[in-house]
Amino acid sequence: MHAIDGVFAREVLDSRGRPTVEVELSVRSVTGRAIVPSGASTGRAEAIELRDGGARYNGLGVEKAVAHVNDAIRPAILGLDVCEQKQLDARMIELDGDPLKRTLGANAILGVSLAALHTSAMLIKTPTWRRAHDLLSRVHPDNAPAPCMPTPMVNMISGGLHAGGNLDFQDVLLIPDSSRPFREQLESTVRTYWRLGELLIENGREGRLVGDEGGYGPRLDGNRQAIETVVEAARQSGLDPGDSATIALDVAATHFFRDGTYQLASEQTAWTPTEMVDSLERWTSNLPIVSIEDGLSEDDWDGWVELTKRLGDRVRLVGDDLFATNCERIQKGISMGAANSVLIKVNQIGTLSETFDAISLCREAGFGFVVSARSGETEDTTIADLAVGVAAPEIKIGSVARSERLAKYNQLLRIEQQLLDQ
Ligand code: PGA
Ligand code: ZN
Repeated sequence: MHAIDGVFAREVLDSRGRPTVEVELSVRSVTGRAIVPSGASTGRAEAIELRDGGARYNGLGVEKAVAHVNDAIRPAILGLDVCEQKQLDARMIELDGDPLKRTLGANAILGVSLAALHTSAMLIKTPTWRRAHDLLSRVHPDNAPAPCMPTPMVNMISGGLHAGGNLDFQDVLLIPDSSRPFREQLESTVRTYWRLGELLIENGREGRLVGDEGGYGPRLDGNRQAIETVVEAARQSGLDPGDSATIALDVAATHFFRDGTYQLASEQTAWTPTEMVDSLERWTSNLPIVSIEDGLSEDDWDGWVELTKRLGDRVRLVGDDLFATNCERIQKGISMGAANSVLIKVNQIGTLSETFDAISLCREAGFGFVVSARSGETEDTTIADLAVGVAAPEIKIGSVARSERLAKYNQLLRIEQQLLDQ
């Protein structure tokens, strides 16, 4: 029995300088720590991130969430066994009582949940990724294959709510050759990222300014040009687009869906859902795009069904805002035939145990999934361990710039070494 004897939260800052919650959770002298991430292009169905309001940090302070950890959660979990993750998470879910965790705040609850993962890993002297695997296999033994390295989907060009350029689409991402070792995938991706920066400058565009996730944030003639420029950078870096390098998009379409149409400012057009599907279909047939996230809005379920019917047999259609890592919504997608893959973000749902449930549901339904960071991140590297522990096929961290991103890539490099050594 490893009884929790210390819980402490404080306010720290994320990669945008916005306050977020850090939690330390102790058993005797062993202390695990986690810092909660935060999104900008958030979905409506996400668990609630509690912010203070008022003048401090323009209302973005998290002193209330911090107080909820220190004053409400702490007395409720002191003495619980830190190794019983499911029981711990269930206790906090019960204490909150709201399906979206608006009472205590998902940012309060998640900090404790993830800190517990680290504390228990340290106590039983095992790496966090292996501990994550053990916990998943305890609750979902049929959906817990052996840990393995994920393939990164790496942000190259950023638009939408994450960058100051004119692009509607949020990310154009490069996926390296998944048959190569992780460190080699990373190397070819970094080389492409550097070449892309040079190429943008050579073309008279901004090849130095980067968005929230480290991808370049240039002004371009349109979304298609952004994709073509990334493909060209890959080619000039010695990769074979469509083979040793492919493209993923995060359209983040929720954020330009208004009054039933997709309002693409950079294309100077507004498309109906069917026209949007037509365009995505056209692009995937003549560009090496293998994955499209949030190609349609979180409210456009009928559009998603149409998109899945037309592209689902050859393109990964990933629901981010659509599913919000929420089993009820994922189940709805499975039943309706909307999407075929799920973006997994721990803070969309608020506990590690519910994240495991979402991953297990994906596996059960034959859906794919991608473990993902948020646009607001920190030095916390939990998702790197999580992705390996749950054997995620892919991980989306952002670009290969900015230390809150590199912290995760570097942790993956360490884990790859550990997997080779075992
Ligand atoms: P967010 O962006 O963290 O701002 O939501 C990431 C994503 O949309 O995948
Ligand atoms: Zn997204």
